[in-house]
Amino acid sequence: MRVVVVAGIPGSGSTTVLKKALEDIDYVHVNFGDVMLNIAKDRNIVEDRDSMRKLPPEVQKKIQKNAAKSIREMSQQNNIIVDTHCTIKTPTGFLPGLPKWVLDVLKPDIFVLIEADDDEILFRRISDETRARDMEKMKNIRLHQEMNRAVSMAYSALTGATVKIVENHNDKLDEAVEDISNTLK
Ligand code: AMP
Ligand code: MG
Repeated sequence: MRVVVVAGIPGSGSTTVLKKALEDIDYVHVNFGDVMLNIAKDRNIVEDRDSMRKLPPEVQKKIQKNAAKSIREMSQQNNIIVDTHCTIKTPTGFLPGLPKWVLDVLKPDIFVLIEADDDEILFRRISDETRARDMEKMKNIRLHQEMNRAVSMAYSALTGATVKIVENHNDKLDEAVEDISNTLK
């Protein structure tokens, strides 16, 4: 079955777009962060999702690898959308969300990058009280989105998967949903 990776920096609205798109496409939604969090909680490593990116990189990578294996198993029966991140901003720099050993296990067919303008992302983060979002300057938000574009093409070169960019602007959620639905139908 198909495996589609959907990614966007925190505040891009990737999960929001996805949840709405899933009303009209036949995919099972798997949040990579949820799978990692369950593994980390079982091992008493962390208690909440926003602490995971602060763990030592080696620990994050071990959990990441195990999460990838468990997601691949789910794709035997269903088309899967993996809701995840191209890069994770950690205290020691950008950690790749899909290093080669994860791609070898997941074997994605399409990467979808959800993007928004830097100022839109900044304001969404300030307004989101449900999460411990990292506050960043606009230029760092821009850098993070640029890194994700670059690394998604590297992921594409390693797998042959296509890369689709979907824009999710304020008050234009329906357009983003239509774009992603048409891509994945
Ligand atoms: P989210 O709910 O999408 O913000 O993701 C929660 C957390 O899960 C992120 O902040 C990361 O710590 C972790 N995470 C999600 N996807 C990956 C991945 N592919 N590799 C490593 N960590 C990830
Ligand atoms: Mg998300």
